Amino acid sequence: MDEARVRAALKELGQPAYRWDQVRRAVYDQAAASYEEIAGLPPETRRALAQRAPILCLTERRVQVSPDGRARKALLTLSDGKVVETVLLRPSPTRWTTCISSQVGCAVACTFCATGLMGLSRSLTPEEIADQVLFWRQYMRREGLEGRLDNVVYMGMGEPFHCYDAVAESLRRLTDQKGLAIGSRHVSVSTAGVAPKIARFGREFPQINLALSLHAADDELRTRLVPLNKAYPLAALAEALKTYLKETNRKVFFEWVLLKGENDRDRDAEALIAWLKDLGPAALLHVNLIVYNQTDTPHRPSSEADARRFQARLLAAGVKSTVRQNLGRDIDGACGQLVVLEKAG
Ligand code: SAH
Ligand code: SF4
Repeated sequence: MDEARVRAALKELGQPAYRWDQVRRAVYDQAAASYEEIAGLPPETRRALAQRAPILCLTERRVQVSPDGRARKALLTLSDGKVVETVLLRPSPTRWTTCISSQVGCAVACTFCATGLMGLSRSLTPEEIADQVLFWRQYMRREGLEGRLDNVVYMGMGEPFHCYDAVAESLRRLTDQKGLAIGSRHVSVSTAGVAPKIARFGREFPQINLALSLHAADDELRTRLVPLNKAYPLAALAEALKTYLKETNRKVFFEWVLLKGENDRDRDAEALIAWLKDLGPAALLHVNLIVYNQTDTPHRPSSEADARRFQARLLAAGVKSTVRQNLGRDIDGACGQLVVLEKAG
């Protein structure tokens, strides 16, 4: 919701100041999907607001639900006709998480990522980013889904630190107590490693979780998988992370998509262990091993046994690590599968 626009419209309509509070509560606390639902507003004000300041700046094109109902993927149309995807996940019976996009496409072009294959179309506005969460709150209410959506990860389409300002503003909106009121510690931003923005993020958002998509701990391999590594190689990332850790004293999550025979070998685990050693206290470093979701790329997923072996090596060296459960594969809504296909429409 474009708050400034709603407030300006209310003012133009000659409405008293408390009207904004009515709208705000209905939209954020009750997930009202239209002004018609806001009983306290005069009917003509509802109609005028709907025309001048729509609650959502994006519209639902389609929602797919996984057979077990634990993952849902929405295709949302933006005002210029472009489309983004956003995912709603239920990792446990009462907890809901959304995985939101920050860009249409992505310029980083990681070789294993479906979004990367499409290139960058444009970045989203703060409103388009935050409205994905509002969309799911409305959806949950409409569908009668129990529980609260109070966890947000920036792991959908796009590289959040390639549109830092818009992401920063969206974070302020998500965590605004008078807005979506999501706890800062329940929000995570994942980056492919835009080093200068990592330190800045730590200064500006010390309470928000940071995830770094590492995937390789040697420059040659990492540059091949994540071309951004050329601009910000591992040494630059290490420096940025040291600053981040010192300033925030917060845990950093490292994402590592396990690709068969490419980065799941013993020597890859050893390189990771060595690289993490100098970064900071082991208690603040956590590696998320992600089973590769098949996309239209030449990679293959590691076997479960390989994933466990890799994890065991890390654990034996005192590196905390988990193998991430993957929800949403059956609707192409898992990590790295977020891409808008022509056939999707
Ligand atoms: N651009 C950001 C955030 C979006 S990607 C980033 O890369 O961090 C979110 C996560 O999905 C990243 O960790 C990314 O590496 C991972 N991912 C991408 N493609 C994947 C795939 N095919 N299978 C599993 N995870 C993938
Ligand atoms: Fe972009 Fe992240 Fe996909 Fe890499 S993994 S192409 S950075 S969205």
